[in-house]
Amino acid sequence: MGHAPAVKPFEKKLIVITSPSGAGKTSIVKKLLQHFRNFAFSVSATTRDMRSGEVDGKDYYFVSPSAFQQKVAAGEFLEYEEVYEGVMYGTLKSEVERLWAQRKTVIFDIDIKGAANIKQQFGSDCFIIFVKPPSKDVLFERLKARNTENPKTLKMRLKRAEEELKFESKADYVVLNKDFDTAYMRTKNAIIRFLNPVPVYH
Ligand code: 5GP
Repeated sequence: MGHAPAVKPFEKKLIVITSPSGAGKTSIVKKLLQHFRNFAFSVSATTRDMRSGEVDGKDYYFVSPSAFQQKVAAGEFLEYEEVYEGVMYGTLKSEVERLWAQRKTVIFDIDIKGAANIKQQFGSDCFIIFVKPPSKDVLFERLKARNTENPKTLKMRLKRAEEELKFESKADYVVLNKDFDTAYMRTKNAIIRFLNPVPVYH
């Protein structure tokens, strides 16, 4: 008897990598995107200033505060947060729909509240990975060493990081980012298990 090969139908999945700022999630996301060719990055909208080396439409959609508010009013966001005082970040519905239309699994680099919000909307189609810094001190040192902050924004980020560390329990998977290669490998394996669950036979 001839059977057609089993082709898994496309499923709209969301992989959310979250952590306090400076815990190293962005590097993990970049490496995951190189490994999983059917993954695509959800480019968020933000009102923050562009950093040197960033590209509009690739790292973020850089928008003015008024343009951001217009999108909020028009219901264009899946979720949005004032991640830092006066600085807005949000996931556009159109972005996620665009990537799903290309049959991509969408990967997010968003803050902890945004991750909890996405989880609430998408439940088991969504996998939340919390990247945990080895210690508070290491996190604070990394944030300082990054040199992207002035004293005011650094203070803001440290305060927020302290709050965010408490949200670990909401994640589907927690990975300690002590050694990058180990953290990356564990994250990759957790994603593979999520996307290909072992069938249970009765
Ligand atoms: P950064 O300014 O360093 O690029 O990002 C600051 C924080 O905002 C990071 O924790 C990042 O993950 C988060 N972030 C980026 N985009 C979004 C988004 O669309 N929604 C939410 N809730 N957080 C975001």
